[in-house]
Amino acid sequence: MASRKIEDLHPESRKKFTEFLKKAKSEGIDVLVYCTYRSEEEQQVLYMQGRLEKFGITLEELNEKRKKLGLWTLSPSEAKRVVTNAKPWQSAHQYSVAVDLVPLQGGKPAWNATETYRKLGEIAKKLELEWAGEWKRFREMPHFQDSATWKKMRGR
Ligand SMILES: [Zn+2]
Repeated sequence: MASRKIEDLHPESRKKFTEFLKKAKSEGIDVLVYCTYRSEEEQQVLYMQGRLEKFGITLEELNEKRKKLGLWTLSPSEAKRVVTNAKPWQSAHQYSVAVDLVPLQGGKPAWNATETYRKLGEIAKKLELEWAGEWKRFREMPHFQDSATWKKMRGR
């Protein structure tokens, strides 16, 4: 399973996200971070979801791979849903410069808290973090990434 630890982020991203979480908290927003670093293998398995035919594998085979990574068993309908367009090493999570999180309301994950996500997006922007809730292609509300540090790592 992917890491949930802020400590597993790239040192520069760690600084930014620590500040980000502090700011969110000071504005009364509680969040649950559920992914920071994600391995190449796990990215591949997530990428296969919704693309079983393309990869020529059965749901049972996919679930076997998921089990090895500590991921839950997908139902046939879940297995049809594409959850990422990023192949291994195309996701900022493999470079430890991204965080997936969900706001907590009354201690429970609020996946559809659009207004709260928007506020988090504003906080992110001020810290030079990018919020995928604003992306044109494959909008992903829980995903925040440190594109500046990622670019530096790639030498651009
Ligand atoms: Zn993400």
